[in-house]
Amino acid sequence: MATSIVVFTRDLRVRDNPALAAAAGTGSVVPLFVFDDVIIRRHGHNAARMAFLAEALDDLDKGLRRLGGRLIIRRGPWARTVLSTAARAGADHIHLAADVSGYAARRLARLRSLAASARIGVAVHPGVTVAGPAELRPASAGPYQVFTPYYRQWLASPRRTLAPSPAKISLPDGINPDGIINPDSINPDSINPDELPAAPGTAARARAAKGGETAAQARLSAWTAEHLAGYDQARDDLAADATSRLSAYLHFGCLSPLELESELTGKPGADAFLRQLAWRDFYCQLLAARPDAAHNDFRDRGDDWHDDDAGLAAWKEGQTGCPVVDAAMRQLSAEGYMHNRARMIVASFLTKDLYIDWRAGAAHFMAHLADADVASNQLNWQWVAGTGTDRQPHRVFNPAKQGKRYDPQGSYVARYVPELAGLDASQIHDPPPAQRRARHYPPPIVDHQSAAAAWRERARRQRAR
Ligand code: FAD
Repeated sequence: MATSIVVFTRDLRVRDNPALAAAAGTGSVVPLFVFDDVIIRRHGHNAARMAFLAEALDDLDKGLRRLGGRLIIRRGPWARTVLSTAARAGADHIHLAADVSGYAARRLARLRSLAASARIGVAVHPGVTVAGPAELRPASAGPYQVFTPYYRQWLASPRRTLAPSPAKISLPDGINPDGIINPDSINPDSINPDELPAAPGTAARARAAKGGETAAQARLSAWTAEHLAGYDQARDDLAADATSRLSAYLHFGCLSPLELESELTGKPGADAFLRQLAWRDFYCQLLAARPDAAHNDFRDRGDDWHDDDAGLAAWKEGQTGCPVVDAAMRQLSAEGYMHNRARMIVASFLTKDLYIDWRAGAAHFMAHLADADVASNQLNWQWVAGTGTDRQPHRVFNPAKQGKRYDPQGSYVARYVPELAGLDASQIHDPPPAQRRARHYPPPIVDHQSAAAAWRERARRQRAR
C-alpha cells in the first residue's frame, strides 16, 4: 500500500482539508507538523500566537486520533525535517497546502528540490483562502491592486468542491498509534507544544480565544446565531465587540474559509461578513504576487519617517494620552487581539500623527496578535500608512473623533484605560488637563491638528514630485 505524508502548515483541521483528503485517499498516511526553526525564531516570542498554535495542534491530534491516526510533531529546519520523516516512513508522496508568503514559497522550493533527489513527489493543494491567489487576474498583468474590481470577480468566480473528511486514517505499518515512527526514528528534536517558549503578556491569555478546530466550530455557531444578522451595523462598534473573532482560527486554518463561505452564504447578514473574507483573499493574492510588500512599500512615496523612540514606546505601552489609542494598545497587550476599527485608528496615529514607519507598528502587531498574519497585517498597515492599496492614501484619522463616533459612550476606553473610567462620555475621548492630572493620565504626546497639517503638507509635496 502506498504511504504518503500530509504536512500540516496553517491548515490545522480535518474538515475540508484538501491535502489531508488527497493523502488519505491514496493509502496509509503520516500526519506531520514541523515546528519550523525559522518561524520559531521569528514568532516564538508571540505568546498569544504560540499558545493558540499549541492548542490547535492538540485539537488536531485528537481529531486525527478519532479517525485512527495521530499527529506526529517535530522541530527543525522545515524542509529537511519533512523530507527525513518522509524517507523514514518510506513515503512516496508529500501533500501540503499552498501558501502565499515569500518565505512559504522559498521553503516549498527547498522541499521540492530535496524531494526530487529522493524521488518523492510533492503535491500542493488549495485550502488557505476561498479563491486561490492566482485564480483571479485582472485584464492587465499582475495581481488586482484595487479591492472593488477584485471583489466583483471574487463573487463571480467558481469555487472548488469541499474536500470530504477522511472516514479513516491508516498509519503505515511500523507506526504504533500510541508512539512515533519506529523507536529508532524518534527525532530528538521532537517537542511537546506545552514546552514552547513563553513570553511577556502571557497573563493576557485568560481572555483570548482557545485554539483548535473544535473551538473554531463552537465559536462560529455561537457567533452566527447571535451576531451574524447584525454584523454590518455593529462591526465598527468598539465596545460591542460584536465581530466574529475568527481571525486566528482562519490564520491557522482551524476553519476552512471556503467551508465558512458555503455555510454562511444566504443567511441574513452574511454578505457584509463574507466581504471581509474577500479582503483576506485580496491581500493574500497581493502578497503572493509581491512578496517583497511584507517589508517594502507597496507604493514608495519617498517617506522620510521620524525616528522617535519615545513616541513609539508610548504608543506600544498605551501611554500616548490619546484615550482610544491607549485603550486599543492595551487591548492588544491584554488579549493578543484588537478590534479592526481600533487597528485602523492606532495604525493611523502611529504613521500619520507620529509619522513613524509602518514597519515598526506592523512588527509590534506581529509580536502580539494571536491572528498575526503576514498578508493581512503588512498590507493593512500599508493601506493605513498610505503606501499600500488605499485609493485615498492621504486621509488622516482624527483619533478623538473616531473615538466619539465608534465608542460614543466611552465604554471601550473605560474598559481598557481604567484611569478614565467614570468620566462623562462628553469628556472621555479628550479629557481636560485637570482631569488628566487628577487621574494620573498623561497629556497627549502629539497635537493632532498640527500633525495632520504637517502630514497634508508632506502629501502635497509628494504629489508635486
Ligand atoms: P470580522 O470582522 O469578524 O471579520 C471576519 C474575517 O474577515 C476576519 O476574521 C478576517 O479573517 C477577515 N478580515 C476582516 N477584516 C479584514 C481586513 N481588513 N483585512 C483582511 N482580512 C480581514 N487580520 C488578521 O487576520 N491578521 C493580522 O495580522 C491583521 N493585522 C491587521 C493590521 C491592521 C493595521 C489592520 C487595520 C487590520 C489588520 N487585520 C488583520 C484585519 C482585521 O483587523 C482582522 O482580521 C479583524 O479585526 C479580526 O477580527 P474578527 O475575526 O472579529 O473580524
